Amino acid sequence: MSMFVDQARIRIEAGNGGDGCVSFHREKYVAAGGPDGGDGGKGGDVLFVADDHFSSLLSFRYKRKYVAENGQNGAAKRCTGKSAPDLTIKVPRGTVIREAESGRVLADISGDEPVILAKGGRGGKGNQHFASSTRQVPRFAKPGYDGEKFDIILELKLLADVGLVGFPNVGKSTLISVVSAAKPKIANYHFTTLEPVLGVVRVDEEKSFVMADIPGLIEGAADGAGLGHSFLRHVERCRLIVHVLDCAGSEDRDPIEDFEKINTELRNFSEELSRCPQIVAANKSDLASEEQIERLHAYIAEKGYPFFVISAAAAQGTKPLIDEIAKTLETLPPVKRFEPEAAPEIKPEDTKRFTIEIDGDGVYQVEAPFMEPIMRTVNPDDWSSLQYFERVLRSSGIIDRLEEMGAKEGVTVSINGFEFDYVD
Ligand code: GDP
Ligand code: MG
Repeated sequence: MSMFVDQARIRIEAGNGGDGCVSFHREKYVAAGGPDGGDGGKGGDVLFVADDHFSSLLSFRYKRKYVAENGQNGAAKRCTGKSAPDLTIKVPRGTVIREAESGRVLADISGDEPVILAKGGRGGKGNQHFASSTRQVPRFAKPGYDGEKFDIILELKLLADVGLVGFPNVGKSTLISVVSAAKPKIANYHFTTLEPVLGVVRVDEEKSFVMADIPGLIEGAADGAGLGHSFLRHVERCRLIVHVLDCAGSEDRDPIEDFEKINTELRNFSEELSRCPQIVAANKSDLASEEQIERLHAYIAEKGYPFFVISAAAAQGTKPLIDEIAKTLETLPPVKRFEPEAAPEIKPEDTKRFTIEIDGDGVYQVEAPFMEPIMRTVNPDDWSSLQYFERVLRSSGIIDRLEEMGAKEGVTVSINGFEFDYVD
């Protein structure tokens, strides 16, 4: 049995930027040339793009980590390191991506444009940039910036104008098969529909809409019982719900009870979904008595829903239903898109604490107790040691704050009493 997978958790890692290079120009007979260390290349981004060849997230159950390459390091003779290629991940259209840690929406892959989810790090500057009148021999370069790396949750939320809902066996698959080219499995037993099926319904020459046949909702679906719960998210985007009932009660259920149960499920899943407009299709009318149809009609009409009597199997009554759907859709907003949600503010206790003040001499005085152990070990003559020092200053937010406060090339910065020239 094939499995329909509509949710997956994966890790994405953009590439790191390459490090800047420390190098000095050498020529025969020239004793000491100028600095010519090139910049590092940019790390690859991780992008997502919709691909209509995919209809499920199954492949993400097998491969869970997606890593873009790092940028290359800079080299001598002002050679910039090569930037790494971006990593593009194909997903089914309608995939909503959330940050795993916070649950916030990062992107809705519904359009055609690729979306960058994790940005590759910039390359570090080579020492060619750091020569100045007071610093003729810059024995340092900047390390590359780290690429963004985090876990995400992919959720497939189909893009359909109309969602069919109803108990198993009421005739949803039959209906979509007679009004569109979709050919879902139809059989007289429950849960035949294991994956949502999309069908394009042509209304006339110009007009069409997309209908989704969603697997049978069952009681308790919203609480996670049985099939259905995971499928409710597919109706979430629909602009209109067509609620299919078996008006003949051919499986010894009462269509009025079915109607209320399904609506309760929708309400339990989401308030928004329960407010989605509904049209009722009373199916299997060929098996129903006049009294059965009338009783149901009276109930539904009293509740204020449009009511259509059909026999999907015989393709009877479907034309007026389709016309009503098309007419109603014209009055409704477009398919819901999920907007990216802003990142939460970082709380002070989450960051390493530090304070910065500019003293009377214009020196930027940084007090950062957490830097103490690093200050004790940093070796100003050692390139990799300085690179490490710079990385910590950057990741702790000290560099950003210095820049906000107006620190420019050449000013003096003092960290816990250790003074040095600021290099932009
Ligand atoms: P679903 O589970 O809601 O998708 O239901 P299906 O479309 O698979 O139909 C379930 C059964 O009901 C199948 O045996 C269909 O042939 C039958 N059926 C569907 N529509 C009608 C109808 O209008 N009249 C009758 N008599 N049977 C129907
Ligand atoms: Mg079905």
